[in-house]
Amino acid sequence: MPIEFKFTKPFIDAASENFITDIQIITLECLKEFPELHPKTIKFSYTKGFACAMTLKATETTYNIGYNPEKPLYYNVLGHELMHFAQVFSKIPHGEKSCDVYTLARSELFLDNPPCYIDLPAEIENYWDNYAKDVRNLCIDAIEIRKTNRQYIKWVVKEIKKLVKK
Ligand SMILES: [Zn+2]
Repeated sequence: MPIEFKFTKPFIDAASENFITDIQIITLECLKEFPELHPKTIKFSYTKGFACAMTLKATETTYNIGYNPEKPLYYNVLGHELMHFAQVFSKIPHGEKSCDVYTLARSELFLDNPPCYIDLPAEIENYWDNYAKDVRNLCIDAIEIRKTNRQYIKWVVKEIKKLVKK
């Protein structure tokens, strides 16, 4: 079933036509990585920050995502917001850092920008493209490790630091 996109007036006022077209295309591409999610309606609201996910009426079919049209569109940012819905409606552990780990692990599509909440050394932040795939592999390992070790976020942050060549 096609997804219906809605936009609040403040969002439409702040966004260019291209931005409104692109955010729909990118969201649909991101959703292909979330077979557990089945939204019918996605509503975009204006936010002053970068992005935020909000559940509307606590339904599994209507999502509200806040996005700032003055910021660039990143798969990583939209993927992160969609992962918040997976946290609510599926079995993804809650929390922002967990959201980043699961988003990076989910697909290479989400490597187009560094994550916001996992602590990254400046070298990795500045040269993200050189490290993105290795960081993703560590996130995949971290999800495995979580089965026996609840400290998987501490583990992944420590392992990410080791990626920086001295
Ligand atoms: Zn978040």
